[in-house]
Amino acid sequence: MDFSYTSEEEQFRHEVRSWLEANVPTDLRAGRDDDLSVDERWERRKDWHKTLHAGGWIGLWWPQEYGGRGASVSEQAIFNEELARAQVPGGINMSGVTMLGPTLMHWGTEEQKQRFLPTILPAEDLWCQGYSEPGSGSDLASLQTRAVEDGDHFVVNGQKVWTSWAQHSDWCFLLVRTDPDAPKHNGISYLLVDMRSPGITVRPLVQMNGDAEFNEVFFEDVRVPKENLVGEKNRGWMVAITTLMFERVATSSYYRVETLLPQLHDLAHRLERDGKPAGENAAVRQQLAQFAIEAAAIKYNELRRLTRQIKGQPPGPEGSFAKITSTELNLRVANFAMELLGPYSTLAKDSPFAIDQARWSYRALSARSGTIAAGTNEILRGVIGERVLKLPKSR
Ligand SMILES: Cc1cc2nc3c(=O)[nH]c(=O)nc-3n(C[C@H](O)[C@H](O)[C@H](O)COP(=O)(O)OP(=O)(O)OC[C@H]3O[C@@H](n4cnc5c(N)ncnc54)[C@H](O)[C@@H]3O)c2cc1C
Repeated sequence: MDFSYTSEEEQFRHEVRSWLEANVPTDLRAGRDDDLSVDERWERRKDWHKTLHAGGWIGLWWPQEYGGRGASVSEQAIFNEELARAQVPGGINMSGVTMLGPTLMHWGTEEQKQRFLPTILPAEDLWCQGYSEPGSGSDLASLQTRAVEDGDHFVVNGQKVWTSWAQHSDWCFLLVRTDPDAPKHNGISYLLVDMRSPGITVRPLVQMNGDAEFNEVFFEDVRVPKENLVGEKNRGWMVAITTLMFERVATSSYYRVETLLPQLHDLAHRLERDGKPAGENAAVRQQLAQFAIEAAAIKYNELRRLTRQIKGQPPGPEGSFAKITSTELNLRVANFAMELLGPYSTLAKDSPFAIDQARWSYRALSARSGTIAAGTNEILRGVIGERVLKLPKSR
């Protein structure tokens, strides 16, 4: 494996870094937007998305004909590294940019590509993912939302749940059952649904961190034009899996950890332990070093994944590995900050004694969700057990 960058790539890094230095708003640096309410954060990040898009940094690797730059895999990785270095978040509409967009490029008709792709990067159309149902999460193929043909339309009835950002979305990529009699993987179809269609009700759900980021979504006789079917009727499972493969790679919170570690280091040097800065305590230093080692291991695994991508190979088990390790490290980092804060970790952000506006307890309460979303870590451990370690299937 060659870790060195070409002079063009170094030049590209310089370009990104200079742009970020000139454009990153102070209130988004170092996770300060974690202090905002979920709706304020959404609006703030939407503005930041527009700035990134105007700079040409959203969907870097997308082909130019759909508004991207046709950047190489290495350039995308360099951009992500520089975002982490600058300690700023990326854009919004990730369900569109990292999941639906690439899926449509692979499976969409020419009309669908022309109709839907150009509005994703500028966030003119925001997308949400309608997969999970109250009775179908890990066992996604058991989903029950029904779609029945009626002339030029499908008529959809059913319920989805945990649909992130549905309350702000214009469109949903939705899995529905179109043949209830077929074996469960063979009767599913993939539809693109206008969220303003009559018959859709969105109800926000509040998570343990206090945010209402995801939603219940109800469909009652919702009419979806047949031209919005992606892939073949009843063969939507393959399309759904393509989206999931892109999602797992995108959900690795490796870059999030890279952003948090310098902040944890800073916190440890501001808090006291035994009359000295906690960052000078041997046990604390050991833990900080351990986190840095694990972050480095995740980074090199990420490079292995990139190498496969550069060689044009499909995503391998590294995607599952990256998602497990980075989300669990993210959780342990946040929990360790709580340990350092001791009793201060219990204060709410409006308390005059709260440290860093109680940002760390918000992060600790948020971090668990990463181990559940986009396929739980238990399910992904099963994938690694079966596909990499060749262990027998669990029953
Ligand atoms: C923050 C967040 C955002 C989300 N956003 C979306 C979204 O936008 N769109 C969407 O469609 N979904 C979304 N989800 C839903 C997510 O995909 C599901 O929560 C996830 O797939 C698990 O499904 P479930 O919640 O039904 O849990 P279940 O599948 O019921 O699992 C319950 C527990 O049993 C374990 N388990 C289940 N089966 C096995 C097995 N075979 N082996 C070992 N352990 C097992 C699981 O690991 C878990 O611990 C989101 C979830 C979160 C947390």
